[in-house]
Parts: sequence; structure tokens; C-alpha cells
Amino acid sequence: MNVGAHGDRYSRQVIFSGIGHEGQRRLSGGFAVVVGCGALGTVIASALVRAGVGRVRVIDRDFIEYHNLQRQLLFTESDIQEDLPKATAAERHLREANSEVEIEGVVTDFNRTNAEKLVEGADVVVDGLDNFETRFLVNDVCRKMGVPWVYGGAIGSSGMTATFAAGEPPCLRCLMSSPSGGEGLTCDTAGVVNAAAWTIASLEAAEALRLLLGLPASKELLLMDLWDRTFHSVPLSGLIADDCPACNGIYEFLQGRPRTRVTSLCGQNAVQIWSADAVGTPLERIKDRLSALGPVEGNEQMVRFAVGEQELVIFFDGRTIVRGTRDEKLAKALYSKYVGM
Ligand SMILES: [Zn+2]
Repeated sequence: MNVGAHGDRYSRQVIFSGIGHEGQRRLSGGFAVVVGCGALGTVIASALVRAGVGRVRVIDRDFIEYHNLQRQLLFTESDIQEDLPKATAAERHLREANSEVEIEGVVTDFNRTNAEKLVEGADVVVDGLDNFETRFLVNDVCRKMGVPWVYGGAIGSSGMTATFAAGEPPCLRCLMSSPSGGEGLTCDTAGVVNAAAWTIASLEAAEALRLLLGLPASKELLLMDLWDRTFHSVPLSGLIADDCPACNGIYEFLQGRPRTRVTSLCGQNAVQIWSADAVGTPLERIKDRLSALGPVEGNEQMVRFAVGEQELVIFFDGRTIVRGTRDEKLAKALYSKYVGM
């Protein structure tokens, strides 16, 4: 352990009987990968870096916006004025907090082309994501590479977390067969209470520290609601799905079976997005959710929702047409914001 000029930096957790000198030494040799650096990731990464985990990699593709500051603890107004990506700003602030740790901010979209490289060598992967599509990819890559991962998500005033140990069921895919298990709710449509996200992030960080110390993974899915002050847990052993592809060595999200198709509609100034995970989602539910954000029209076959210059037309068969643009990137962004994947 590098004691150096800051010899008593970790004294308060070394005194804690669950860690001690030996535990601190173990942490200093650990490597954690935090995927996503928003409300969850900023808190998780701060906890791991301040606790002296030897190497921490933080991955995020986005830039900081003002509406992030309500809950994303590492970031400041001056980061926004400098136009910093989240991973770059996080790396900078985390270095200021602990110069003894090797911190790596990676500005990239975590996807199937880079997932294995980014996770290689990690002792634990911790979920700071805001979407289930990428969580399913994390699940696949961790399953395949034998790395334990800590799942966590928060929305509104509620959240849940679970740890998926390497090489034993269940995994995230046992718990929900497709990314639409999140019911399409996103922070953009349902909002989020900052303290709820931080509670889940703290639970995730504690679990990651325990895994780095060599302690066994917790065996429960923990659910909580901070507004109602309720916590309850469900044993993971009851959630094993025998037909889970990921637990049977089939990594569909990593291998990239196309679950989403994006097509520009020629001559129509519109982009069509089809998602396997949207098939069968009741339109009534989508309508209810969007009606909180603006006027919605529709019938049993489709729902129309206007967003500025664009209009989303969501069909019962898993298709959404984004009208008023030929830009596939913009269409995908609107889709994930309002239809939610
Ligand atoms: Zn599984």
C-alpha cells in the first residue's frame, strides 16, 4: 500500500472491523469498472476512489447538462461551461479527491464492439447505467468473462439492486427476459429523486467493496422506495430461470442479434424504428405516461405525440415512426427518451 504523505487517509475504514489493514491492502490491488457516470455512477465511483480501490475505470458517452446537476454529485457548473464529457470531468474530480488511485475516464458508448475489452481484467463491474439495453449487454459480457457485477437502477423515488456472482445463476436475464422489463420508464419521463438514486448507488458501492474484499455476493434482490420509506428483499435463489440464454452460454446482446432496426423512410422526412422489445407493450400504458408530458392522440393501433418539430407515432406492433427528421441519431435519441429502451 502506498502510504506516502497521506498515511492516515484510510484510517477510518481500517479501524472498521470489516476491512482492517489486510482489507485495505486488498482494495488497493482491486480493479473496478463503473459503466455509466450519472446519478449512480458519480456516487459509486466517488465511493470506490475515496475508499482506495487501486484502479477505477469510469465509462460514459455523454456530456454534462444543467438538468444533471440535481443528482450527479461529481459535476459542477464550470464543467458544463467547459463542455466536458462526463467521463473526463469525473476523472478530473476523482483525481483531486485521491491522487493515489489509478483513475481512467473513458468517453465512449459501451457497446458490443468494445464491451469485452473494457471489462477485461476487472474484479467487479458496477452498474451506473440508465437503460436496460446496455445492462443486458453488461450482463452478457460479465457472464461470458466470469466477472461479478452489481446491478442497480433508480426511478422516481424507488430503486432496486442485486449482485450477480460470476458463474452461478441467476443473472439479470433470469429476472427479466428482455430490456422492456423496465416498462419503458426513464428519468426523462418519470423523473428521479436525487436521494433515491444515491441510496441505490451507496448499496451498489458497498457491495462492490465487499466483492473486492473477497466476501460472498449478497443473495437478494433489494427493492426500496424512499418516499414511502419501504425496503424489501426477494431471495435471488427463487428467481433462477432454467431457460435463461445468458446462463446457458448464449450471449445474444453481446453477439448482436438485431433487436432494433432503424430505417430512413425515403421521401417522407421520417425515420422508422422497430424494436423487438416494444412488441406487445400496451399502447394505453405509453399513452398514460406521455400524457403527463404533453398532448397525446391515438387509438388502439397507434399513439401520436409531438416533441418540438418532430412527432412520434408509436404503433402496437413495435414500430415507431419519428416524423419531421431524416436524422437517424436524433430519431433514436427521441425514441429512447420518450418510448424508452
Ligand atoms: Zn440467467
